[in-house]
Amino acid sequence: MTLPDTANFHAKYRAFDDSDVSEYNLDQIVYRAKNGGLLEVEHDMDALRKFDPAQWRELFDRRSGRTVWPYGSGVWSKKEWVLPNLPDEDVVSMFEGNSNLFWAERFGAQLGMSDLWVKQCGNSHTGSFKDLGMTVLVSQVNNMIKNGADIKAVGCASTGDTSAALGAYCAAAGIPSIVFLPADKISTAQLVQPIANGSLVLSLDTDFDGCMKLIQEVVDEYPIYLANSMNSLRLEGQKTVSIEIAQQFDWNVPDWIVVPGGNLGNVYAFYKGFAMMKELGLTDKLPRMAVAQAENANPLYLSYLNDFNDFNPVVAKQTYASAIQIGDPVSIHRAIRALRATNGVVEQASEEEIMDVAARADRTGMFNCPHTGVALAALEKLRQKNVISADERVVVVSTAHGLKFTDSKVAYHEKKLDNCRSQYANDVKRVEPKVGSIIDSIRARIEI
Ligand SMILES: *Cc1c(COP(=O)(O)O)cnc(C)c1O
Repeated sequence: MTLPDTANFHAKYRAFDDSDVSEYNLDQIVYRAKNGGLLEVEHDMDALRKFDPAQWRELFDRRSGRTVWPYGSGVWSKKEWVLPNLPDEDVVSMFEGNSNLFWAERFGAQLGMSDLWVKQCGNSHTGSFKDLGMTVLVSQVNNMIKNGADIKAVGCASTGDTSAALGAYCAAAGIPSIVFLPADKISTAQLVQPIANGSLVLSLDTDFDGCMKLIQEVVDEYPIYLANSMNSLRLEGQKTVSIEIAQQFDWNVPDWIVVPGGNLGNVYAFYKGFAMMKELGLTDKLPRMAVAQAENANPLYLSYLNDFNDFNPVVAKQTYASAIQIGDPVSIHRAIRALRATNGVVEQASEEEIMDVAARADRTGMFNCPHTGVALAALEKLRQKNVISADERVVVVSTAHGLKFTDSKVAYHEKKLDNCRSQYANDVKRVEPKVGSIIDSIRARIEI
């Protein structure tokens, strides 16, 4: 099969809210629709439909993981569905995506499940799924700057992972970046990433929601491009996770996707990916979506209890799942749409549940970040309530690498976390450098 001619395809911004008919080109600097609502990247589906499903599947399978620039990337292997008109030479990619879909056989068995999988989105350039969206956003900005747009820097407010991804992709493109971080609320590993990549790192005495308000004021007035997930370009990259999951199951769709949610862009991005595949005939169903929230930052959960009839922001309390410590999620309406369309559910988990389940699952070979812990804890509850049944195929989305969150993981094993009994702690044993003492320690654990 020959490569599809990109001139056939087209994407633009349109308002998320159907009652707003405003539309913009992707090279315009615009973050909100005319009535103030969010934007959405809309593809010309009729043009995409000219290729039949088998052709798309074959094309994506052939490109993924290979070295033909930029099509080996998990995101850019689906370029026609992401940013069809972007010249290849303007893509800023670090071969993101193509992450491991891990069969959680042993942990699944503990929950009485036989078909449990973990999509390891944290096995990525900067250690979180944020790379998938950032490659798209920074590529588009790169193209706009080359074409003369008045953009002096790219900025974001972040709970840590967005700033790491922004710093890395801007460094690769040679574009200045500015990150707004809530002081003392992100991990050391997350903080050092934008520092190392040369971002202007601003630590602000407020929370994430406060940082988000400030950056919106700044980008409204100055030639700084906004990189938060309110910007729908990022969701185009993140939606490729769904396509990759289907691809890894030989184009079958799992029964459930369980994803930790904070600002709630990701759940909508995943829905968008599955919906697009179904609409173009590559797959035949949508998965049900389950969003997992920390009890300490649970505005979506509270709205779910009320059938989404109303939504009230909360002041997010501290959670070890620091990347989802968000009380006023920008993508709330996107998330509600995704959940309604997929007969989805929302579950929450306490701090102790999050850290315990992450530690328990780690014992079966994983190395989970606390956000993945939120998803695993939610999974366990949904299984116990029989919302998810034992034989269903479930994919838990691991959003970041555990190595970014060693502070809280070490503290758990040292039993130093407040209000947490650390039931699965496995602390270091300090032993005298003598064989006898070493053998005593081994015998305390293992029969020899
Ligand atoms: C950003 C992030 C999330 C939340 O994603 P949203 O799209 O904001 O819901 C979850 N986990 C990790 C590790 C993240 O970095």
